[in-house]
Amino acid sequence: THFDFTGRRALVTGAGKGIGRKIVALLAGCGAAVVALSRDAGDLESLSAETGCEVIVADLADAEAARQAAGEAGPVDLLVNNAGISILQSFLDTTPEAFDRTQAVNVRAAMIVGQVVARGLIERGAAGAIVNVSSQSSSVGLPSHAAYCASKGALDQLTRVMAIELGPHGIRVNAVNPTVTLTPMGAMAWSDPARSAPMLARIPLGRFAQPRDVAQAVAYLLSDAAGMVNGVMLPVDGGFLSN
Ligand code: NDP
Repeated sequence: THFDFTGRRALVTGAGKGIGRKIVALLAGCGAAVVALSRDAGDLESLSAETGCEVIVADLADAEAARQAAGEAGPVDLLVNNAGISILQSFLDTTPEAFDRTQAVNVRAAMIVGQVVARGLIERGAAGAIVNVSSQSSSVGLPSHAAYCASKGALDQLTRVMAIELGPHGIRVNAVNPTVTLTPMGAMAWSDPARSAPMLARIPLGRFAQPRDVAQAVAYLLSDAAGMVNGVMLPVDGGFLSN
């Protein structure tokens, strides 16, 4: 742990499993007071026991619940919009329901929670930082990921607009764009070797990401070490996008 977040309050969404859980542990280990938001109370209970984080149980697919939960988090300095879902369907079979739900969690919730946090920072006259957890699938197409790729492309664009509108208030907004990461979601989409082998072959470092790889990049972007970094989409992909 190389960053010092002492005195900063951080909100991490989708914190119960995978990447979000690792981000909570890393930020707490670097001295932040962390509020972990997720859907499953049991996940949050064990995470709180491990890290000392505060917890909020909420379903971010519900716009009003997202707004309320963000308010309950109190005066947040650092926000990580990490919650995301992936519903695998071929393009021809993608349902409006799956498409809308994916947009609601992966994009709309980031907007709503971002609005609440940014308003609070501006009212307090405080500087802050926001990181949206996007994906390499924002810039390349993946089979069976139509709704997901569309949502991550939208999240990158939301990040850019947040960066230019919030930057003048001293709030930096960036994204991280991981390749396949070994989490419950990653296992669901990529456990079939027939699917994962060609993907792995395109990653020059020859491995998939670990949640810790993503958490470290998030911590960097939240930290003062990234004080002049605003509006970037940082690949955490072992070089995948350079192919
Ligand atoms: P996981 O599915 O492993 O964990 C996601 C966490 O978010 C879970 O705790 C989940 O809770 C929570 N969550 C999901 N939907 C909601 C919701 N509506 N409201 C509140 N919490 C919710 O995913 P990952 O850790 O793999 O993914 C984290 C982020 O990283 C996502 O945005 C994902 O798109 C992105 N990403 C992941 C990659 C990968 O290969 N794994 C690659 C690139 C990006 P619950 O389990 O209770 O639903």
